[in-house]
Amino acid sequence: MIAASPLGLAQALIRCPSVTPEEGGALRFIAQVLGDAGFEAHRPVFSAEGTPDIENLYARFGVGHPYLLFAGHTDVVPPGDETRWRHDPFAGAVESGELFGRGAVDMKGGVACMMAAALRFLADRPDFAGSLGFLITGDEEGPAVNGTVKLLEWARGRGERFDHCILGEPTNPQALGDMIKIGRRGSLTGRLTVHGKQGHVAYPQLAENPIGGMVRLLAGLEAEPLDAGTAHFDASNLEVTTVDVGNAATNVIPMEARATFNIRFNDLWSPQALEDELRRRLREAAGNTVRYTAEFEPTNAVAFLTAPDSFGFLIEAIELETGRRPALSTSGGTSDARFIKDHCPVVEFGLVGQTMHQVDERVAVADLERLTAIYQGALERYFSDDPQ
Ligand SMILES: [Zn+2]
Repeated sequence: MIAASPLGLAQALIRCPSVTPEEGGALRFIAQVLGDAGFEAHRPVFSAEGTPDIENLYARFGVGHPYLLFAGHTDVVPPGDETRWRHDPFAGAVESGELFGRGAVDMKGGVACMMAAALRFLADRPDFAGSLGFLITGDEEGPAVNGTVKLLEWARGRGERFDHCILGEPTNPQALGDMIKIGRRGSLTGRLTVHGKQGHVAYPQLAENPIGGMVRLLAGLEAEPLDAGTAHFDASNLEVTTVDVGNAATNVIPMEARATFNIRFNDLWSPQALEDELRRRLREAAGNTVRYTAEFEPTNAVAFLTAPDSFGFLIEAIELETGRRPALSTSGGTSDARFIKDHCPVVEFGLVGQTMHQVDERVAVADLERLTAIYQGALERYFSDDPQ
C-alpha cells in the first residue's frame, strides 16, 4: 500500500513538477492522502501584487490538545541542466538504494516521512487525545510572501492554536541523527555609498577619490568582532559581499564607491541594535573626512532560540532510532521556522542535507524509513497517555 510507505509517497511527490511557484499536483496529492486518512484538509491560495499566486495546504486530525504540527514545503528549486542528472529529476528513480529527484531531501522526502509517520500512528492510535496537523506551503524556495507567513495568519484567524511544531527541513550534515536546529541566526543587509568628486587623475587636487574612504569604512566595520557567540550560537559575522566602483577609465577619479554587506547575527542582537552599532562604527571610521550614506534593508529574519527541553519527545525518538544524541544547533541560513516561532515553539529535523539544491539530489531509501520511524516515535511519545 502506498499510503504508509515513505518511499512511495516521496516518489509520488517528486513526480509532481512543483518548481516554485508551480503547485504541480503535489499539494493536491497530499490533501487526497491525508483526507482519505480522516484529516480535514484546506487548500488556501494567497496572492500579493507583484508575486505569483501560491497554493498552500493545511490539514488537521482531531480537535483537542496538545496539538502537534508538522510543517514543510513542496515547492522545489529548478533542476538546472537536466542532461547532467543521472536520472530525470522528476521521475523518482531508485538506484542502488537511493531515491533520485529534485526535492528528494529538500524537502519532499521529509514531507513523505511525516505523512507516513502520521498514517502509521493513526492506524495504531485512531482515538489518541489531541490534534495532529500539517502546514505545507508552495512558497518556501521563492519570495516566501504567499506561503507560511500567510498560512499561519490564516490558521490563527480560524482559531487554530498549535502547541509544538516540527519543521522537516534537511538538518543533518552527514548522517541521520546528527543535528536538530533549535533556532536560527538573524540576517541584516546594509548598503554603503561613499561620495566623492569625479575628476582627472592628473589633477587630484580638483577631485575627491571615494575609494580610500570606502576602504576605511569597511575596515572600521570589520575591525572588532561583533561578539564572541552565546551558549547556542556562533559569533555574529559580517561579510562584505560586493564593492563596486564601475570605473572603466584609467585616467578618471570616480565619483562614487558602493559596497554591500550582510550580517548573520545571534541572539545578542536585535536588527535595530545591530544597525545602531554598525552606524556607530561607520561614524567613527569616517571622522570628518569621509562623506557617505548607509542604508539597511528591512528584515524579517530575527535571531531566535527554542528551549530544547520542550522537545524531549523528539530528541528521545532520534536517540532510540539512531543511537546518537543530536547536536542542538542554530547554524545555517534562515528558514520558515522564523515565522512559525511567533505561533508556537518550533524545532527543525529532517533528512541529510548534503545534496540539496544540487544535480542528482538524492536520499537513501533506508533514511526515509528511519526518519519515518523517528517521527512516528515522536508522535507516540508526544501523545502518550502519561503526562509530559
Ligand atoms: Zn527546504
